[in-house]
Amino acid sequence: MGLIFLVGNGASIKNADKKMAKQTVRDIEIAGAKVLVRVDFNVPLAAGEVADDTRLRGALPTLQYLREAGAALILMSHLGRPKGKKVAEMSLQPVAKRLGELLGSQVVLAPDCIGEEVEEMARKLSPGQILLLENLRFYPEEEANDAEFARRLAGLGEVYANDAFGAAHRAHASTEGIVHHVPVAVSGLLMEREICYLDRALKEPQRPFVALLGGAKVSGKIEVIEYLLDKVDALLIGGGMSYTFFKAMGLEIGASLLEEDCLEVARQVLDRVEGKGGELLLPVDCVVARGPLAEAQTQVVSRKAIVAGWEGVDIGPRTRRLFAERIGRARTVVWNGPLGVFEIESFAAGTREVGEALAAATERGTTISIIGGGDTAAALSQADLSASMTHISTGGGASLECLAGSVLPGVAAIAEKGG
Ligand code: ADP
Ligand code: MG
Repeated sequence: MGLIFLVGNGASIKNADKKMAKQTVRDIEIAGAKVLVRVDFNVPLAAGEVADDTRLRGALPTLQYLREAGAALILMSHLGRPKGKKVAEMSLQPVAKRLGELLGSQVVLAPDCIGEEVEEMARKLSPGQILLLENLRFYPEEEANDAEFARRLAGLGEVYANDAFGAAHRAHASTEGIVHHVPVAVSGLLMEREICYLDRALKEPQRPFVALLGGAKVSGKIEVIEYLLDKVDALLIGGGMSYTFFKAMGLEIGASLLEEDCLEVARQVLDRVEGKGGELLLPVDCVVARGPLAEAQTQVVSRKAIVAGWEGVDIGPRTRRLFAERIGRARTVVWNGPLGVFEIESFAAGTREVGEALAAATERGTTISIIGGGDTAAALSQADLSASMTHISTGGGASLECLAGSVLPGVAAIAEKGG
């Protein structure tokens, strides 16, 4: 019998293999230590200010925990794509300011992320103080995972904690290389949650396990579809990607989104499901519009009745009921991709209604709901359903790679418990 992880609403995840658990900041001696924390502060900026501080808030539990445990903090992050050069607009200065406000104490921005001056600043830190290193990607060595650069970063602190799930799918100096130069690499509290849900809950799901996929394109999610097909009890597909499947089934799709070069993959997926008797649910009806605008004329049609000049923009009411019913019987649901063009209110109902069914199942305590993908998270927030889900991932690309079964290098680099 392994550990039981209690999650929201009384549902639990059995951890059958204790060895898989990663060490966290709770497992190590911290008092008096200088802790290097890789955070994901890659936030949107507008007019020199942080436009959305969700990612900063996401790191607060780890930062507060470490400070209360008596650590001095050296934070490091990337921001944007400065392509290995110092770009003033991509300085972390606005982040230092906003983080200071959120923590209610000063966050000093270092003038650089490596070098003697920074080393001196790090040396002088006392417990509770916070130093934020300047943008890691001002150096091409960061993305190149340069060993010397990683060694210099590592030299700034004594303990390394990674709380940047959103950057864990890349083997960069601050996420992977650095662990070869520190005595121990542990996860932060946000990373711990992400690993719990996106890694372990998906590898050993409580069944029935249902995946819900949507979004615009098949092309970005081929690996996800293929991996999940073998894993899940049912795969539900909606959104723009369903029309390529309809086309592959020989249906007319009018002006709906079509990816010609994915038709073959879609055909293979359909064949595979047929052969194996696995459960793949595609929409049975859709909302079609005379164009992608809010004021466009719309109608609900069976998937067999889409005609030229009309574009599929949402799943229809029968499909919503079908998906809601299937989700209601699941014990684990993972969802990536909105089921319609949710940005337009009149095309958002399908995503919202299925979201409501998942929220209700989660609140009943019978279902663990795991959400990946930036647009999916935005759609649920727009529908006011975020608080009802078990876990909403903070990492777009990283969560998608987990759904494709990949081992993230930044996660692999974290020490295992008992290891
Ligand atoms: P995520 O960011 O959650 O991974 P994606 O980026 O894959 O999701 O997909 C989100 C986009 O898919 C949204 O912009 C939405 O408008 C679009 N989309 C959903 N359904 C359709 C559709 N029927 N036709 C065109 N685009 C769609
Ligand atoms: Mg997206």
